[in-house]
Amino acid sequence: MSRLSALFWVKVLGLLPGEGHHAHASHLLSPASHMSLLCSRRAHMLVNRVRLFACLFAILTPLWIVVDLYTLPSPLSWKLAVLRLLTSAAFFALTRHLRPDGTLQQAWRGMALLFAIPSLFYLLSHVLLTQQTLHGVPGIISAGYGFLPFVLLAGLAIFPLTLLECALFALPVLLAQLLSGYVQWAAQDTHLFWGAFWLQVLIAAVSALACTTQLTFMLALVHQAVRDPLTGVFSRRSGEEMLELLAGQAVRNAMPLTVVFIDLDHFKSINDRFGHAAGDQTLKRLASHLDGLLRQSDILCRWGGEEFLLLLPNTSLLQARVLLRRLRRLGLGLRPDGQPLTASMGVAEWQQDGVHDWRQLLALADERMYQAKADGRNRVAYGSTRAVVMS
Ligand code: GH3
Ligand code: MG
Ligand code: MG
Repeated sequence: MSRLSALFWVKVLGLLPGEGHHAHASHLLSPASHMSLLCSRRAHMLVNRVRLFACLFAILTPLWIVVDLYTLPSPLSWKLAVLRLLTSAAFFALTRHLRPDGTLQQAWRGMALLFAIPSLFYLLSHVLLTQQTLHGVPGIISAGYGFLPFVLLAGLAIFPLTLLECALFALPVLLAQLLSGYVQWAAQDTHLFWGAFWLQVLIAAVSALACTTQLTFMLALVHQAVRDPLTGVFSRRSGEEMLELLAGQAVRNAMPLTVVFIDLDHFKSINDRFGHAAGDQTLKRLASHLDGLLRQSDILCRWGGEEFLLLLPNTSLLQARVLLRRLRRLGLGLRPDGQPLTASMGVAEWQQDGVHDWRQLLALADERMYQAKADGRNRVAYGSTRAVVMS
């Protein structure tokens, strides 16, 4: 089954050469496997677009009042004008009060509200308009209100969404359409109804394609922006961003968070004796070796030239010790002369060290790494005790 789905995505993404990798395919289906950095960037983007969309509709919705007053009979036109003003106010409130906080839950709430406001407007205007039979120009203006679901489905296209999210936002609109068709079954032309419904399904499908294409592009950009080009692990900038996110999570959920600052020992001598290219190879090998040892939720960053930072969310000091002991057993690989590659490491943990922000946590791990260097290199410093020799 998984092979079949991989083949499907290879074929689909093969139609977009250079725009996405089939390894990213599961990221297009649901947000479950998205890394926290992608989630927070996407959440910001979604909220910003919700605000933009809401602002646009807050301005456009009342403009049509002039047309209604001119063409529709009173008091219907006045009732619709009040409805439009209330809808516009709701859109304005959404623009003003929704501020990005970096969580997807908030972005989804914002999107749900953005879709709920016009849906309510559609429902109430429908109730008002069906209270009397309109012909001629008023009839045409009244029929125009029926196009709102089409606008909603097309509007989905401005958001970078997974297929699951697209379905969750498009399905209520389509189901509401089916329901309203069922309620007024006797009073309408069934061919016209199914024609309009099929058009809505097509618009939803095209919007879903636009959403996932945007997401593919975003995935590729985020992937490029957050990785260090030499080693392929996370860059320092993205490491800082993730550390800030993880620190927030650690505080909110009262979970441990451990960081390990790693500085390779006597690395300059590798460059001096074997050349820069050999030094680069050593860094690449080490990064993939460390990456292979970590859990999926652990994050390895290249902090500087021969310095790495390990972020271990939901990992206590005790669990970090177990990991570092395993690393000590396996070693860090070899230098070009066949000697073991060693490093000095400093470890700090959010709760145990009683820190209040991520910079403090980082400074402690850095300080301890220097302590490990001062104590003779090739060891791990945990703070309270003297540095522990690695091998
Ligand atoms: P110490 O044990 O005190 O940490 O000694 P060291 O030689 O590792 O540390 P030092 O700070 O003196 O030198 C770090 C060296 O790392 C200097 C630089 O040539 C090398 N380096 C930094 N970035 C890169 C890189 O991208 N590729 C290569 N090949 N070398 C790098
Ligand atoms: Mg260094
Ligand atoms: Mg060094």
